[in-house]
Amino acid sequence: MEEKLYDMIVIGGGPAGYTAALYGVRSGLSVLVLEKLSAGGQMTNTEQIDNYPGFPEGISGFELGERMQQGALRFGAENQFSEVKSVDLSGKIKIVRTRKKEFHARTVVIATGAYPRKTGVEGEDRLAGRGIAYCAACDGMFYKDKTVAVYGGGNSAVEDALLLSRICRKVYLIHRRDALRAVKVYQDALFQSSVELVWNSRVTGFLSEDRLTGVELTDTKTGEKRQLALDGLFVSIGRIPDTKLFEGQAAMDEAGYLAADETTCTNLPGVFAAGDVRTKQLRQVVTAAADGAMAAWSAEQYLAGEV
Ligand SMILES: Cc1cc2nc3c(=O)[nH]c(=O)nc-3n(C[C@H](O)[C@H](O)[C@H](O)COP(=O)(O)OP(=O)(O)OC[C@H]3O[C@@H](n4cnc5c(N)ncnc54)[C@H](O)[C@@H]3O)c2cc1C
Repeated sequence: MEEKLYDMIVIGGGPAGYTAALYGVRSGLSVLVLEKLSAGGQMTNTEQIDNYPGFPEGISGFELGERMQQGALRFGAENQFSEVKSVDLSGKIKIVRTRKKEFHARTVVIATGAYPRKTGVEGEDRLAGRGIAYCAACDGMFYKDKTVAVYGGGNSAVEDALLLSRICRKVYLIHRRDALRAVKVYQDALFQSSVELVWNSRVTGFLSEDRLTGVELTDTKTGEKRQLALDGLFVSIGRIPDTKLFEGQAAMDEAGYLAADETTCTNLPGVFAAGDVRTKQLRQVVTAAADGAMAAWSAEQYLAGEV
């Protein structure tokens, strides 16, 4: 039997992937979504999403993921739970391989996301969502009028600290060096804010009961240890885009994000990058969904021979 040739294969079943699938099928394309874990992507790691429009009471990340999946399936998208192990995206017919099968498509939407870099300190996974957070824009409001710290020294860490300083009672910025990596404009804003800098310090332990109650800091110069009481710690030491599969094929920036603007077009004809996986400023559910819609539109234009 001849293998089915899909109009579009979407790799990744997060908000970007399922929105691409929804818009793709609703434009009459045949669409397959391949997801290695469960529907929803990173959203499944958060109990409550309060900043996705249309849900004034908030919604659990897991439920929002399932709803996005159902929306795409309702109009005929196919969905398989398998990890994509290799791809060949250079030809007109794109090849996508899982451990057991090879799939063919005329376009591919890469929506594999990105995940936050962890500290690697013991207890982190247990306390994630219980005082340890990775996204100030997402979880800052849970710490209104509380004492928190941001761990990191780059642009995102400074941005997070500034955002939290408008919400929280007290904000520390913990950095392992005595100078920040953030650009000057961010540093200027930080030095004028109420954020207290904790220089030359590494987080080497978590203090907790059922939630985080503080951190153990080790001075990077003297080795001296001390404790800092906190209601929350925002880890902002970078994110890792899930792009290893595409190395040597799709163009990436130095951090490994797929190079694509709002059109989601990559350097490869017929290949589109949507959501957290692409170069962009704001990585959120709403921007991932927006990218998914754009990717399907760009794919449609490509298939019509217009791009
Ligand atoms: C703890 C936490 C809380 C958050 N809270 C909020 C919030 O409140 N509001 C908000 O707007 N944003 C929040 N975010 C950010 C938001 O979840 C992301 O911006 C969004 O999920 C990105 O969507 P995406 O579709 O681009 O990628 P992802 O959600 O990362 O989805 C990518 C999917 O691709 C799959 N995948 C990867 N590689 C493969 C492969 N080889 N084969 C098959 N499948 C693959 C993954 O399993 C995953 O399901 C939060 C993130 C985290 C981690």
